[in-house]
Amino acid sequence: MIKKTNILEIIYPSKCGICGNLDKDGLCDECYTKLNKHVRNRIICPSKKLGIVYFQVGMYIYDYKDIRNLMINYKFNQKSYLNKLFFKLITKNNVIQNYINKFDVIIPVPIHKNRYRERGYNQISLILKNMYDNRILEKKLVKIVDNKRQSTLNLEERKINIKKSYKITDVDVIQGKRVLIVDDIYTTGNTLNECSRILKENGAEIVGILAIAKD
Ligand SMILES: [Zn+2]
Repeated sequence: MIKKTNILEIIYPSKCGICGNLDKDGLCDECYTKLNKHVRNRIICPSKKLGIVYFQVGMYIYDYKDIRNLMINYKFNQKSYLNKLFFKLITKNNVIQNYINKFDVIIPVPIHKNRYRERGYNQISLILKNMYDNRILEKKLVKIVDNKRQSTLNLEERKINIKKSYKITDVDVIQGKRVLIVDDIYTTGNTLNECSRILKENGAEIVGILAIAKD
């Protein structure tokens, strides 16, 4: 079955997701240079409020404020074609590439099937799919509870809301592995920490996280 996003790529030639000029990578050199000035590539230092931290290492690429509009357009305004832009931002970033290469498997943070139906895509899977990398594992970590959006809740509520929301469907692919979990935004860290907890409890040797942006 051809997905909606693929059909759109056939009908509409790729354009820069920012200025709209024709560009096969979805991000022209000029806009790339501008965005590149905002690259941070920093280590994530989890807040004490997170409680027990289950990931060993974490990195983020941008401060959320610098990439907010793009992110909102990509996630909530049906602009799925922006996946190519984000892919280019990640692959042209050597620090992040070296970081990714330290891991055996790469897992996009899953979204619940109801959210998937609503949006039509998992925003992180769509970006990672461009890598054609067999370390990427889809549907091995799944979201089983369709809970409230984390962004609508306060700190304490977020922690409770996310508990027991995820499940591993195939333990063998995780055991003894260095696992990287990728998400779009790191805010309180509760989502990525809960994913890390499940992975550690199912035998992952090391869990690392990567967020495109940190709020
Ligand atoms: Zn452009």
